[in-house]
Amino acid sequence: MTLNFDFNVNMYQDPPVGFENVMYLVEIAHERLKLYKLFENNESFTDEELKARMENSFLIELLDDNLRICEARRKDYLSHWVLRVAYSNNNELFFIKNELMWFQIRFNRMGSDEKRRFMEKHNFIFPAVSDDVKASLKLDRHVWYKFKFTEVPELLKKRIYPLCGGYIYIPAHKIVYWLLNKLEISLKESLIHIKKMIISNCDDQLKTILSMLNLGNPHGYRSIGNHIELDDLDERSKYFPLCMKFQHETLRKTHHLKYFSRMQYGLFLKGLGLSLEDALELWRGEFVKTMPEKQFWKKYSYLFKHQYGTVGSRIDYAPYACAKILKSTVTTNQIHGCPFKHWDEDVLVKRLKSDGISNLKIAEIVALVRRKKYTQACTRYLQCHHQNVTHSIITYPNEYYEKLCESCVVDIEDLFKSDEDS
Ligand code: SF4
Repeated sequence: MTLNFDFNVNMYQDPPVGFENVMYLVEIAHERLKLYKLFENNESFTDEELKARMENSFLIELLDDNLRICEARRKDYLSHWVLRVAYSNNNELFFIKNELMWFQIRFNRMGSDEKRRFMEKHNFIFPAVSDDVKASLKLDRHVWYKFKFTEVPELLKKRIYPLCGGYIYIPAHKIVYWLLNKLEISLKESLIHIKKMIISNCDDQLKTILSMLNLGNPHGYRSIGNHIELDDLDERSKYFPLCMKFQHETLRKTHHLKYFSRMQYGLFLKGLGLSLEDALELWRGEFVKTMPEKQFWKKYSYLFKHQYGTVGSRIDYAPYACAKILKSTVTTNQIHGCPFKHWDEDVLVKRLKSDGISNLKIAEIVALVRRKKYTQACTRYLQCHHQNVTHSIITYPNEYYEKLCESCVVDIEDLFKSDEDS
């Protein structure tokens, strides 16, 4: 395949042609999915943080000028197209959101000369707003452009740039928003087209790639297959993330949880593989300590059955992602949400101390919290419990639990080795 890649950003206008190894395509698409996963919590990253999180990825080479840049740009282009096809029938908005974010990060890193060349190459050439118009709109002396207001919806929402006669005036350094809109429109159109094509003509190679990528529902947590029994719940709760540990402790202590806690904690337990029968027994067993059993069945049991999709709309609800939990509104007397975001700092510190976390590590966690890096703080908390836990950032409470469980599994060979040694 002969392709020329002049820039680290790409509008991905032309689909690839030629032959590529299926395994290679799957491998580079998986690298791109790791980047999507990083974006999942909507946290902002500095270049250094992105590089640390995506260590050894070809995508990170696009943040540096280096000898392998051509190869990295080619992989970026191919992996984009693999995922474009893969997502055409499955969560298109998720794909578009991540692609726009990745485009913006790279475009913003380019120098003004490179940006100008990129725009020229794509024939995105606009006349600058004249000095007279700038004076009449009280714009500063920098370069400004005018676009139809529909062409930069993100800037329109901000309501800080002048609107006149159906046009919006934006400074040159905000041109990325026009490009993002352009890219979004072209991705949406292309995804519809690809979807139609795949329905009528999906060859075996493509089917192989799609099944190997196993995208499923990227917003839904996929358990690695552990099942938790009700009898083990108290013991296993020591592997829960702080948000869920606190729900569990409160349920055991007060024999009740409010609605949003029941949703957050109930779906977490479902994601751990707790059966509906066990779930009902857990909630019933606690609630009847403060209310008649009849009241539990009449007023509360429906929600849990609904979570498992056995009544009502029969949707198989997924556990909440950290991103969703972080967006929760938590008022006084409510205990759902994320402790790293929703708790007062002194309450959090007290809890971390009582969990046996050292002052040094608490300071690291608090520093992350103050920078609003809540999932990173949670990941640091996880690492305090087990140093061998991978450094990829937690995106689901269930993922936290499974990572901690996995890291606590003893290697049986090591066990025998130490027996022989002693
Ligand atoms: S970051 Fe996620 S898993 Fe960790 S405490 Fe917050 S919501 Fe729970």
